[in-house]
Parts: sequence; structure tokens; C-alpha cells
Amino acid sequence: RDAVSPEADVEEHQIEGALRPKNLDEFVGQHRVREQLSLVLHSAQRRNRAPDHILMSGGPGLGKTTLAMIIAAELGAPLRITSGPAIERSGDLAAVLSTLQEGEVLFLDEIHRMARPAEEMLYVAMEDFRVDVVVGKGPGATAIPLDIAPFTLVGATTRAGMLPAPLRDRFGFTAHMDFYEPAELEQILHRSAGLMGAPMEAEAAREIAGRSRGTPRIANRLLRRVRDYAEVRGDGRITLGNAHAALELYEVDALGLDRLDRAILDVLMNRFRGGPVGLSTLAVSVGEEAETVETVAEPFLVRSGFLARTPRGRVATPMAWAHMGLTPPPDAAF
Ligand code: ATP
Repeated sequence: RDAVSPEADVEEHQIEGALRPKNLDEFVGQHRVREQLSLVLHSAQRRNRAPDHILMSGGPGLGKTTLAMIIAAELGAPLRITSGPAIERSGDLAAVLSTLQEGEVLFLDEIHRMARPAEEMLYVAMEDFRVDVVVGKGPGATAIPLDIAPFTLVGATTRAGMLPAPLRDRFGFTAHMDFYEPAELEQILHRSAGLMGAPMEAEAAREIAGRSRGTPRIANRLLRRVRDYAEVRGDGRITLGNAHAALELYEVDALGLDRLDRAILDVLMNRFRGGPVGLSTLAVSVGEEAETVETVAEPFLVRSGFLARTPRGRVATPMAWAHMGLTPPPDAAF
């Protein structure tokens, strides 16, 4: 994985636990989401009931798993973690649902990738706390209703729009996770450096934050690369000089663009004269799935002003041409 890819790798998953904030107060940024969540959780606690089901939408590495863990911790409830791709048949979901304890929080990551038949089972479970277990096959098959313990579903998806409406409607509340501001990323970096026992200059934190694509996971990963550099080539102190040298070594662009971002801009400008070009054509040209281009790379490119989505397709902006050091053709579509 690239140093700036927002998706996690194996090393990441092992280290993330240590850097994860444990409660809502430690969770940096996302003020609106925090306030909304705090209300939902506290009112449920006052009524002594399981809170409404919660949907979280946002790109990879923005803190959805962390928030799910915090929700369970704040409720003092156990947490079960599974993901859409792990649920291939409705039986897989029935096995999870029927073993939940009362009040348990079920975190279902990548919920939009769950098998269709399981989706329907989930609707019923969310609404009536019941699963219909089908016994037998063909005309003799019967559905046996089974009561399950009231639980809170926390679903995560990279895009709420990809969920079928009946599923989306069964969530009491959707938390939209946005990119983090540089100042918030700096705060996260200082916290992480503290936990890692690595002294860090304020300018170094600012520099790393600026290249983290608004994403805490990337910020923490870049911090680890800079820390490695500082330990091996310096005295362990994370200075601006170390940050510059390490980030250059790992080819992290001054604005945090990664290889996929640059490939998209490169194809868009050099092959399609800056666009407009359709999403699927663009995805094929960079050898990625359309979903990855749309949910991982595009939100950051659009937000940073490099890419525009128009009714006729994706278009490179003047800023993108300038950043890539290219001159747009006179008839470029901006
Ligand atoms: P994915 O959906 O790809 O699993 P995610 O959105 O669930 O990603 P997390 O695994 O929760 O992301 O977070 C990634 C890392 O970023 C974790 O190490 C966590 O410590 C850190 N992090 C995320 N959000 C915050 C935050 N608001 N404050 C401090 N650290 C954060």
C-alpha cells in the first residue's frame, strides 16, 4: 500500500488499536457527529433502551470503526464486529443475529456489500428483533420465526447513497463523516506521537497534517514513517527536517496526492485532454474498479479542487493542470 492510501494494511490493524481514542471526548473533530451521537446515546440511556440503529457514512480511515467501538464503550455494551463481504448467505447473518446478547452493539462494516437475501433478513431483525429461519427446501420449506435480543446495529458504508432505500430508512440516524481539518489532524498527530513516546516539533505536525488527505489513518501512518526516519537517521526527535526528508523518500506529494490520485489526473489530462470523461472509462484507464475511484480517490480530488464532476463526466480543473505541471489545451473544458 502507498503511504497515503486511506485503506488499512495488516501492520496498520495491529497498531491502530493502541492509537484509537477510547471515548467521545478523546475523539477529535467531527463535532456535529459527536454531538448528534452523544444525544442519541444519552437519551437511550435515560430511557433504559437500546438506542436507534446508527448508520455511518464516509471514506476509509475517517474513524468509523473507532466510533463504533466508542458507541459500545459509552453504552457499556459488548461489541460484535463483522462486515458485508463476510456475509455471503443469509445463514451467515442468522448465525450472528441469533447469538447477540441483549443490548449488544453489532458493527457491520461495508454494509452495502452484504448479500441480497441477507439484507431482507436484516430489515426484519432491525425492525422486529426477529429472524425467520428457513428450514427445508422447495415447496416444503417453512420459515420459523425466532426472537432475538434487542440490539443496536451500527452500519458503516463509504457511501450512504449505495444502500437500498428500505435498508437506509431503518436507521434512526446517519452520521456523515467528513474529511478532517488540518488543525484537527495536527491534534491527532500530537496525541499519537505522545502515545508513541516520540517528541515532535509543532512545525513537523503541521507539515504531516497538510499531506494527510484529511484522513486520520493516513496522518498516523505518515507519522510512523517519519518517526522511523527520525530514529534511524536522527536522534529520534520528529523535526520539520525529518518530516520533509521522510515524506520525500516515500513519495508523498506536497498536497498528499497518492499514486491513484495522480494516475487519475494523468489519464484525464494526457489521454482525455482534461475531460469530460465518464467514471467507468476513467476507472478502466487507471486499472481500478469504478467504486474505488468514486469512493476512495474522487472525494478528496473534488474537495481539493482538482476534479469537477459535471453532467457530462469528470473534468480536470485549472488547479489540477498547474499541480501536474501541464498546460491545458486551448479548448479544455473547465
Ligand atoms: P475503515 O472503514 O477503512 O476501517 P475507519 O473509518 O473505520 O476506516 P478507523 O479504523 O476507525 O477508520 O480509524 C483509522 C485510524 O485513525 C485509527 O488508528 C484511529 O486511531 C485514527 N482515528 C480515526 N478517527 C480519529 C479521531 N477522530 N481522532 C483520533 N484518531 C482517530
